[in-house]
Amino acid sequence: MDDAFSPSLEAAFDIDRFRSIGHELIDVLADHLRKCKEGADKVIDYRDPEEEYNFWSSYEMSSPQALFSDIISRTIHTHHRRYIGHQVAAPAYIPALSGLVSELLNAGMGIYEMGAAATAIERVVIEEFCRKIGYTNDEGDGFLTSGGTLANLTALLAARAYLPSDRAGTDIIIVSDQAHFCIDRAAKAMGMKSTQVIKVQSDEQYRVDLSALRAAIGLCVNKGDNILAVVGCACSTSTGSYDDLVRIGELCNLHNIWFHVDGAHGGAAAWSSKYMERVRGIHLADSIIIDAHKMMMTPALATAVLFKRPSDSYKALAIKAEYLWEQSAAEWYMLAKRTYETTKLMMSIKIFSLIQSHGHQVIDDYVTRQYDLAHYFAAQVDSSPQLELAHIPMANIVCFRYLSRQVDDLDRCNMKIRSRLVERGGFYIVQTVLSEEVYLRITIMSPYTEKKDLDQLISEVIHLGHELDSDDAR
Ligand SMILES: *Cc1c(COP(=O)(O)O)cnc(C)c1O
Repeated sequence: MDDAFSPSLEAAFDIDRFRSIGHELIDVLADHLRKCKEGADKVIDYRDPEEEYNFWSSYEMSSPQALFSDIISRTIHTHHRRYIGHQVAAPAYIPALSGLVSELLNAGMGIYEMGAAATAIERVVIEEFCRKIGYTNDEGDGFLTSGGTLANLTALLAARAYLPSDRAGTDIIIVSDQAHFCIDRAAKAMGMKSTQVIKVQSDEQYRVDLSALRAAIGLCVNKGDNILAVVGCACSTSTGSYDDLVRIGELCNLHNIWFHVDGAHGGAAAWSSKYMERVRGIHLADSIIIDAHKMMMTPALATAVLFKRPSDSYKALAIKAEYLWEQSAAEWYMLAKRTYETTKLMMSIKIFSLIQSHGHQVIDDYVTRQYDLAHYFAAQVDSSPQLELAHIPMANIVCFRYLSRQVDDLDRCNMKIRSRLVERGGFYIVQTVLSEEVYLRITIMSPYTEKKDLDQLISEVIHLGHELDSDDAR
């Protein structure tokens, strides 16, 4: 047998080529970031899916650098100062480089020796999360997993394992009507029907209504249902509203119900000395999830799943896999005993490198700044007679709308404003439906967004609204 490299293998594993393309790529990315910071170029160069597909289906690469440049220019720019849309982080640069290290080393993480450093670092990171949350000494353990959706499923599986196995009656999850759809998806994956997820109404600030919650719990208890968990939102996705975790925690404690907190977006407020009161009571939760790839400046995916009782962190997915693990003991360093993934990214190093490089203070500074900006934006909206603020912001998420003169068609008008904004590419914002009406929605994610960008967004929305009003009047 001839063990010489073929030309293609030679090129694929050419170390000198890796070095030179890598250096060039960093230059391309840094130039891109500079433009994002300055606000040059569009946030998004929107093309419809077929057009995008046609471009790529007939693509012929001239060089890897050209391929990377095409991908960058045809992808939304989360670092752009006028990217104010969905809740994904504009990653800080050391965590992004850690992502490259993870992907290149490609340690499997399934067993300890397949990722020793990242496994031990994961324990350190989880301990830091537990401390921030306010779990006390013998409380708190967990792991990292691939995203909030999977994290919520994992935590709810642990909650179900907590119920007696010989139970009669129906399993129920109770959550606010503002909860993220992935709670429904988790229930579905767990074999539950949609009627087994009870949606409790929220108040005018989109926080769960506590008396309605109390009533819902009472009803289930009387019927002999098994309340698998009550899920608190910290914060909700649409409006960034934080449920009253202290009161929900007390209620759950009273009825001996598993209390789960979905802190995918807003759990990071625990790091903000100014906004930590938003998550007051979070330490009462039996389980918590927090996405680092939302408010903690790391690339996706990196989500912490935390449990108050360390042993619960082994319960969600316990199975025997003899070829991987020798014993069934709770070994902290065999992470795949607890996670849904077998092979997993070295996600801990993204968080650890951020904290090692810039301290916990950087998370405080980021969360505080972005939340402050949302308050600024809301005040500007509130003082514009043509605009309506949907809620008082509790996070860096704000919903608002343009009050068209065509009052009976506010939904259509606001949807058009958004689509024109996105088509022009000057801003990226999203929309949502609140109480069955369409609102424009911003999440201030980019660290480069400043007050003047928010001022400009307001004048652009009003300008587009006037344009649409006069189109209609014609
Ligand atoms: C984003 C989000 C999720 C889903 O998390 P992914 O990391 O996108 O899977 C779940 N819950 C809330 C409240 C969220 O904001």
